[in-house]
Amino acid sequence: MMQAGEIESALDDLVIANRILANENVVDAYGHVSLRHPRDPRRFFLARSLSPDRVERGDLMEFDLEGNPAAGDSRQPYLERFIHAAAYEARPDVQAVVHAHAEDVLPFGITAAPLRPVIHSGSFMGEHVPVWDIRDRFGDTNLLVTNMPQGRDLARTLGGNNVALMRGHGFVAAARSLIEVVRMSVYVPRNARVLLAALRLGEVKPLSPGEIAARNAGYKPYSPETWRAWEYWATRAGCAHLLSKKG
Ligand code: MN
Repeated sequence: MMQAGEIESALDDLVIANRILANENVVDAYGHVSLRHPRDPRRFFLARSLSPDRVERGDLMEFDLEGNPAAGDSRQPYLERFIHAAAYEARPDVQAVVHAHAEDVLPFGITAAPLRPVIHSGSFMGEHVPVWDIRDRFGDTNLLVTNMPQGRDLARTLGGNNVALMRGHGFVAAARSLIEVVRMSVYVPRNARVLLAALRLGEVKPLSPGEIAARNAGYKPYSPETWRAWEYWATRAGCAHLLSKKG
């Protein structure tokens, strides 16, 4: 059963997630992170159109799974909220979603070179990272995901995977908890950076499917290992005072 303060605590966590992603350079002025409503799976929380490092509790908005803001909320939402709405609609297991433009992953969206885990901390992206090309179904666009059909098409490419690349744009990451999606979003660009460096040096040895499975085995959505990173990043981002005690 949820405590009375569960929603408040979830909103604090979402503020922390925004600040961490900004502080770790996963997002800059653009990019966003959302959290499914802990009590109503048909809704999710996402900040109003604002750079993640500036997000506070009062900036969080509530949306339905079509990307419509809660009645009466006329603030400017992110244009690309449909990335989040469609991911929650397609994946009941997903509790948190990140969309970012982190530069290090972009080469893998515009070439045939696959993004795959090559370092142990990159294992959470999973064995397969599909690439979504908005042009396949929608022709020449401004590359932004600005409606539900585009969001649903992206969610279809994501499928049951944890991460999908968006050609010439960025990535979407989906996970069972906010702390997992943040950890994954920090390590996916790092893994990409290592892979890029390695590709220049010679043949790459990726993690094996068995190693990836072993890395992911037994992890709970709020595991102490993930919580340790969350506290570390939150403190670095100046958010220690907002931390709850889930770990
Ligand atoms: Mn974007």
